[in-house]
Amino acid sequence: RTFHSLRPETPLPPESLPISATEFALSLLRSSFSPLPPHPVLLDAFSSASVSFLSFLSQSSSLATALLSSPFNLAPGSVAFILSPSRLEISLLYLALISIGVVVSPANPASSPSEILHQIGLCKPSIAFSVSSVASKIPSEIPVVLLDSPSFISLLSSKLPNSPLPTIKQSDTAAILYSSGTTGRVKGVVLTHRNLIACIADQHRRRVTRLAEAAAAGDPPPPQTVALFTIPLFHVFGFFMLFRAIALGETTVLMERFEFGAMLRAIEKHKVTFVPAAPPLIVGLVKSPDVSRFDLSSLETLAVGGAPLGRELAEQFVARFPNVELVQGYGLTESCGSASATVGPEESKIYGSAGRICANLEAKIVDPSTGETLGPGQRGELWLRGHIIMKGYVGDGEATSSTLDREGWLKTGDLCYINEDGFLYIVDRLKELIKYKAYQVPPAELERILHTQPGIADAAVIPYPDEEAGEIPMAFVVRQPGAYLTEKEIMDFVAKQVAPYKKIRRVAFVNAIPKSPAGKILRRELVQKALSNPTSKL
Ligand code: AMP
Repeated sequence: RTFHSLRPETPLPPESLPISATEFALSLLRSSFSPLPPHPVLLDAFSSASVSFLSFLSQSSSLATALLSSPFNLAPGSVAFILSPSRLEISLLYLALISIGVVVSPANPASSPSEILHQIGLCKPSIAFSVSSVASKIPSEIPVVLLDSPSFISLLSSKLPNSPLPTIKQSDTAAILYSSGTTGRVKGVVLTHRNLIACIADQHRRRVTRLAEAAAAGDPPPPQTVALFTIPLFHVFGFFMLFRAIALGETTVLMERFEFGAMLRAIEKHKVTFVPAAPPLIVGLVKSPDVSRFDLSSLETLAVGGAPLGRELAEQFVARFPNVELVQGYGLTESCGSASATVGPEESKIYGSAGRICANLEAKIVDPSTGETLGPGQRGELWLRGHIIMKGYVGDGEATSSTLDREGWLKTGDLCYINEDGFLYIVDRLKELIKYKAYQVPPAELERILHTQPGIADAAVIPYPDEEAGEIPMAFVVRQPGAYLTEKEIMDFVAKQVAPYKKIRRVAFVNAIPKSPAGKILRRELVQKALSNPTSKL
């Protein structure tokens, strides 16, 4: 059976209407705000520099015009690789590029040069945008525009005559983001303008409904949202939250690098009302003694997703912040970042649940061994179908067809159940993926690196539970006969080749890696082994 969303249907523009995700977001903004909002659209948490909606719109349109003209000559379908921390300019860049049909492909600036090479091989960019501190990681044959250079700043106020924007079909690609999916190495997730439009429209409908409910109950309208992003703009969660904030006319406070104390200070200073975050932040808020040194009373909502949030932690958070609504949500890069969420204070009290399936989305729970569709309360793989589901993985027909079936169902690789009331519970992960502080660490990538070390005969990487990070990558290693590699040597060998969040943080030596007759690593067996022997050497 199929679980249909219990949320009211969100109206979407007809699919045949040519419109970019930028134009759609701006049309929603203008429909709610005329004149434009008086508060800033962007604020820098560290410098307090701000950008008004008026200059934001004029700068992004100047930038779009400049990028269409020489020397850039970008055209719809060109790809722009972006490697930068969450600076204010990134928002302008996303909006401008998407308005002219250039595909935005942002990656983690902490990535190693070989990780970047792999991503560039997937998205095939004609240009890159970066900052001086990380640009050297980009291969020299790709032209790079530095966001912290005077020449880029001048593009924001260029006075070129406005040329008409190219026609963008909703089915055109808007972005390529990175995820390893259910197995193997990192892949490029193709998201279309339609995907983004469906996401933005749903967020907008929720806000409009909330305002209407407050008005009907005679309550004062909820305060203007000031959102502080602790999540990076290259991750799907930050990426789509940014478009949402612009469409809803909200202020977004950005942090170029995440620092817990600076975040607390920014909440107090800018009277932040809303923080989208990953679970490790909740650990900090619950445990840190610094929290009581700041006035955080403006905080109304904390939206948490990206990795499991334990019931206990959620309860501790609510006990410490009784006036903050803890919105729990679930999503994946392949579903544009959203798939389910709690709505309103009553639903948010159902701790441990990831809320109900979002509007316009269908879900199925499928027995992974028999393929049988299961009913309420039964555990199986979650499949999703709807307008927010990706088009596929770029240049990888095989991975696409094993993840998206012919009827458009996305196989999430998450073991879940949906109860009689439509609440989704994420029980476990079937796919090969480690989430370190909600960042993706594909085990296959680390195994490939381990196999290149001459002293290693075989290796497997699994998630090991960790209170602060959620999970840490742990390696099981079979040494070559006569090789005396130490744990530290193995960790250092990998650390030199990967972004810091992918480091191996635990090693155990074994005589053999358990494998199925087909040669597949039996990861569950290794997880059990690690858990049953947490301290001693295995
Ligand atoms: P990403 O594509 O980086 O957003 O990772 C998506 C994956 O993160 C999902 O398929 C889940 O395995 C995991 N995930 C995201 N949100 C949650 C959640 N609320 N609870 C448990 N796991 C989650």
